[in-house]
This record gives sequence, structure tokens and C-alpha cells, in this order.
Amino acid sequence: MTNEIHRPLAVRKGFIYEIPTRNSGCIPNEILKMIDNEIHKLLREYPCLKGEISEIVFEDIGNDIARASIDRSMKIRLKFNVVAFSDKKIINSILNSSFISLTPKDGLLGFLKHEFIHMLEYRHCKLHSEDIEIMWNNICSGYYANEILCDSLKYCNLEKNDGIIESKISYYATISASEAIAEACSSNVDNNLIKTIKRLVKERWN
Ligand SMILES: [Zn+2]
Repeated sequence: MTNEIHRPLAVRKGFIYEIPTRNSGCIPNEILKMIDNEIHKLLREYPCLKGEISEIVFEDIGNDIARASIDRSMKIRLKFNVVAFSDKKIINSILNSSFISLTPKDGLLGFLKHEFIHMLEYRHCKLHSEDIEIMWNNICSGYYANEILCDSLKYCNLEKNDGIIESKISYYATISASEAIAEACSSNVDNNLIKTIKRLVKERWN
């Protein structure tokens, strides 16, 4: 009689990186492994996010590839585009394209890093707001992201306007301060502004 030995895959049914995962049934194992791998790298880079993600969900999120969300009960979820990720060809062609509106990124790792920066901001708001209303307002207004963006522009002797933000980061970065910070941190290009933003995020949010 031998006892069975189980060597579970990195991606076990219902979990990715020990995070409860919903609706992953139609996602190829190879893609789940790729996601697991990148989450592993990102949690090493941003260890304070360990235990902060309550759920990974594959669902219809329109044109977005992935999305970091938080609700009023402070639950942080990482969402993936179920249509794109269920088809290896679709997701690989998306990850290998370059998008004119975004900073150049390191494939899936880069896209996920953008979302991880949003989650770092959510966590920072949770820790630094006295109650849920204040937390919610700080998240919606991008209060702490705006602080980092303004300070970084000042340190680099740059004015705060959309033209500068688009030329130094990306068009997408002009949408809000939160997007500017996520875009800068997930960029492969390092200019002075991007370096300063990365440094302040490490100092203040990690
Ligand atoms: Zn974003």
C-alpha cells in the first residue's frame, strides 16, 4: 500500500497563486500558468500586496485586457478578459502588439504591473483614510496618485499639463493621475519623470 503523493500544478483548480479564482474553466492551462508566473514575479516586487487580492475573476470586461477593481467593502479583485484569455492566439497577438496610446510594456508582465500599481494605490488609500467614505473619495479622485504625479513633475522642473504628460509618459496617462502613475511604473522606457515616479511609488506605496 503506497500513499499517494500529489504534486499540484502551480495553477490548481479554483486558485491562481493561492488566490481564489472564478470562471477559469475555459482558460487554457498554459495561459493560467503564464498568469501564475507573472503574479509570482509581481508579488515579489510588491510584497505588500500579498494577501490583498481577494479574488481573480475571468469575465467580460469589454475592451480591457485586465482590470484591478475595489468595491466599498474594500475587496480588491483582479479581473481578466475572459474572451481574450480563453484563446491563446487572441491573447498572444494582443500581448505582442504595441499600443500607441500606452507606454511600451513587457508583455503580460507589463499589463499586470499596470494593474498592480492600481492595487498598490487602493491599498495605500485603505491604510491612510480614516473611514470608508474618505477612502472612496481618495480612490475616485486619485488623491495620492496626484500627489506623486505633482511632486515628480516638480522635481523634474516640468509643468503639469496633458501635452507634457503625453510626451513623457503616454496618452493613456492623461486620463487621470492614477493612470499616469500606473502607466509610468509599467513602462519599459526610463526618462527622468518616469524614474522619479517609480522611485516615489516605491518609497510611499510599497
Ligand atoms: Zn489603469
